[in-house]
Amino acid sequence: MPEIQPAEEMEGEKETFAFQAEIAQLMSLIINTFYSNKEIFLRELISNASDALDKIRYESLTDPSRLDSGKDLQIRIVPDKENKTLIIEDSGIGMTKADLVNNLGTIAKSGTKAFMEALQAGADISMIGQFGVGFYSAYLIADRVVVESKHNDDELYTWESSAGGSFTIASGTGAPLARGTRITLYVKEDQVEYLEEKRIKDVIKKHSQFIGYPIKLLVEKEREKEVSDDEEEEEKKEDDKEESKEEDKPKVEDLDENDDEDAESKDKKKKKTVKEKYNEEEELNKTKPLWTRNADDITQEEYAEFYKSLTNDWEDHLAVKHFSVEGQLEFRALLFIPKRAPFDMFENKKKKNNIKLYVRRVFIMDNCEDLIPEYLNFVKGVVDSEDLPLNISREMLQQSKILKVIRKNLVKKCIELIEDVAEDKENYKKLYEQFAKSLKLGIHEDSTNRKKLADFLRYYSSQSGDEYTSLKDYVSRMKENQKDIYYITGNEDSIIYIYIFVERVKKRGFEVIYMTDPIDEYSVQQLKEYEGKNLVCVTKEGLELPEDEEQKKKFEEAKARFEGLCKVMKEILDKKVEKVVVSNRLDTSPCCIVTSQYGWSANMERIMKAQALRDTSTMGYMAAKKHMEINPDHPIINTLKEKVDADKNDKAVKDLCLLLFETSLLASGFSLEDPSSHANRIHRMVKLGLGIDDDDGASGDAADEAAAGDEIPALEGDDDDASRMEEVD
Ligand code: ADP
Ligand code: MG
Repeated sequence: MPEIQPAEEMEGEKETFAFQAEIAQLMSLIINTFYSNKEIFLRELISNASDALDKIRYESLTDPSRLDSGKDLQIRIVPDKENKTLIIEDSGIGMTKADLVNNLGTIAKSGTKAFMEALQAGADISMIGQFGVGFYSAYLIADRVVVESKHNDDELYTWESSAGGSFTIASGTGAPLARGTRITLYVKEDQVEYLEEKRIKDVIKKHSQFIGYPIKLLVEKEREKEVSDDEEEEEKKEDDKEESKEEDKPKVEDLDENDDEDAESKDKKKKKTVKEKYNEEEELNKTKPLWTRNADDITQEEYAEFYKSLTNDWEDHLAVKHFSVEGQLEFRALLFIPKRAPFDMFENKKKKNNIKLYVRRVFIMDNCEDLIPEYLNFVKGVVDSEDLPLNISREMLQQSKILKVIRKNLVKKCIELIEDVAEDKENYKKLYEQFAKSLKLGIHEDSTNRKKLADFLRYYSSQSGDEYTSLKDYVSRMKENQKDIYYITGNEDSIIYIYIFVERVKKRGFEVIYMTDPIDEYSVQQLKEYEGKNLVCVTKEGLELPEDEEQKKKFEEAKARFEGLCKVMKEILDKKVEKVVVSNRLDTSPCCIVTSQYGWSANMERIMKAQALRDTSTMGYMAAKKHMEINPDHPIINTLKEKVDADKNDKAVKDLCLLLFETSLLASGFSLEDPSSHANRIHRMVKLGLGIDDDDGASGDAADEAAAGDEIPALEGDDDDASRMEEVD
């Protein structure tokens, strides 16, 4: 490419860097994908400029000298049809050399890959901003991009790339820049429409009208001018010259001088009017901040446009609340609930909230942790306070009483907003599917509003069919003699799998709530009750179902009858279980494993294991609290009892007990510590069933042979288990 542009006339050496692989891939995707809605590049670059202005403004609040390099906070756009360049310049914070290298090419964000995957799944390129890679959308219309940037703490550096896997960094520049960033797009031949004044204005009106800094477009204007006959010739020549030269300063002064001369020579020369061109900056976004306007005068479209420019979202919001608080303290706020959760909502630790804080229309910061509790981070919007001081710092904010009051009000209004949405079942389903985790986190964190948040919970249940049920609906369906709310936790597959727990509960006509989200385990532990009814987990010990006198008597009798068997089984299972008891929850299964009230459930154990919790001491301690329950009405249990009654030391009994235990573990949603020892036991049973004698050498399995001489096979899994638990004791 011929080096003719001013930005290239740089002093100093160019350093070449390779784009991080995923970024290079993303760029070629952007360049090569057929995509017609290219205009969004401007929204992305303006949004970056606005972010950069926010940052310098924030710095200046505590250190006004940061603005010594320029007090005008603005975005300027300069199209140049002749050179086919479009410049977007901001007086924001700028980038140091390291920033340029890191932010524009060498450090990939999680969004880079996520965005490409989303594209493959049919996402639209216009979603790019949500994935934190909006800058690269410049390559939708440009084949070469030059970024000159000046940060207060560094010299001016120039980044440049025509894609193709690499970019360069050099010091120096063509035109001066006191602070901020100037992006020059070398517009592709077929994209020159973005150099047209009207097109630019339309795109900005559509996507960026609510940007909080003036966006100034350099436009070409025409005006009439009187010239004398003999001057006309000269003017024409000059005009020609000017058109071929880059000129963004209005020539107003020159012309005024001419006018004066004209006045002097009025009588001497004949007058004529000619058209002349001149350049002028036009501010494109003069709209008043939306939240300062009266809610009655704002259309849904305006809210949607504002929401989109605030959040980079490509879709309208799901719900909005616009309100003001007056009295001792004054503020206005606009809160939005998006239609979707961001792709990385729970991904990283550094959780960002989405409420922008303004003080008397001046943007202060957009990540003030104390403004809204973490669980409401999915709510987006702005808050504009009349009372906070303009030069407030993060530290001061933490202690601010005003902020505490604002926070309390925001929470209240967010809850109202969710209540509004909940009035429409379909809409609420959308919200819940996206943000249930947040609401459940709220149950866990926000004890003050726990009761209200509990009303937002929705679950599937044994009676809900394909519809969600609320706890309120559950309570309205409760049986007369029912005291508790029954629930079971597990993942979606295992809940059906551990059906054994709910058989009797269901048979008695009680409804069971299915909690399938890992976070349910945590939130339900905090919730404990709803409208005075205890939440009871059907997989935990001590489940008491309402019983009449006869049922009670029968149960007591069964307990007495099976006391001996329970004792023998406990001896065999030893440390594997806390105790063996007679069950009142089983119907068709012989036994099950329940967990103690305060230990983990099978589901929790699964979650903790999945989280690769390496602290084996808690694992042992929490996981050890298993209770085995036997079904007194089941033929297996009854026959086993007869066997034990006949001969307590029957060789088969021990093996059968272990087998029943392991099978119950599986059926109750636990995983086996040592599946191979279980498999061996099963194989012995199969042989027994087939009438194969173990001694006839048909088996070559070492573990099997070892087991043959010992009633309780000494398998590693068993030993490990026992010793680990002993350590803990
Ligand atoms: P995002 O804006 O979501 O962070 P982008 O790809 O749009 O992602 O921008 C990447 C990064 O480059 C920004 O986070 C910022 O650090 C830097 N950047 C881009 N444009 C500018 C600008 N005009 N001024 C200062 N920094 C900028
Ligand atoms: Mg961006």
